[in-house]
Amino acid sequence: LASRDFHPEDTVIDIRGVKIGGENMVIMGGPCAVESPEQIDEIARLVKASGGQVLRGGAFKPRTGPYSFQGVGVEGLTMMAEAGKRHGLLTITEVMTPEYVDICAEHADILQVGTRNMQNFDLLRKLGTCGRPVLLKRGFSATYDELLNAAEYILAGGNRDVMLCERGIRTFETYTRNTLDLSAIPVLQNLSHLPVISDPSHGTGRRELVAPMAKASVAAGANGLIIEMHTDPDNSMTGDGVQSLFPEQFDSLLRDLEKLAPLV
Ligand code: PEP
Ligand code: MN
Repeated sequence: LASRDFHPEDTVIDIRGVKIGGENMVIMGGPCAVESPEQIDEIARLVKASGGQVLRGGAFKPRTGPYSFQGVGVEGLTMMAEAGKRHGLLTITEVMTPEYVDICAEHADILQVGTRNMQNFDLLRKLGTCGRPVLLKRGFSATYDELLNAAEYILAGGNRDVMLCERGIRTFETYTRNTLDLSAIPVLQNLSHLPVISDPSHGTGRRELVAPMAKASVAAGANGLIIEMHTDPDNSMTGDGVQSLFPEQFDSLLRDLEKLAPLV
């Protein structure tokens, strides 16, 4: 079902008028984690003002270590939904377990599967019937075929609104957190009709590399970007402050991107 042979035309996902896929370009921006109502509201305002369409933010965080901040949980879903509504943005948040799919689907417009959960098959099956579009991140050691098979689990359950996300893979290089595989964008678009979104934040792990790799992703044909932005990155509650843009940088990136592709 994910294959272009099965479905030659690009899939375009329409979420309350925001179109994702085909010729459209979507910008998702926001913090790594929802921290407080004030934090997410202020960031939502800035994302909207810069021309973004989707507010990102994790209420449940998949941390490498068990003692790190794990996210504010269910309350974060409400904070995000309110901020999205107030500022006219769609919302995307990560869901980590099948038990939380329904509550996340109640509060968010798009559900995100993180890199560490790309092959959580119980989760993928549950997302097949969740009634919301899903952004499926590529596992950091997953091949294109493995990513497309993971998407297939969701599609086979009846959910045809799946976006693929390249977020960087593990290589021998340690300067960057991950290596953003730009080839994934055209390869996945050749193999599949599903929209391909690039995540230059996790793909590089370094703030100064986010804008160049965002532009490179658009030049490579990405259908959208998901970018971390924070008003006070140095004091953010996850380690991802180092890869989060300041609001001014986010805004200037979007102005540059507009010259490459219209933001719709
Ligand atoms: C995130 O989007 O904050 C995140 C945890 O992403 P990934 O699963 O790609 O590491
Ligand atoms: Mn993050």
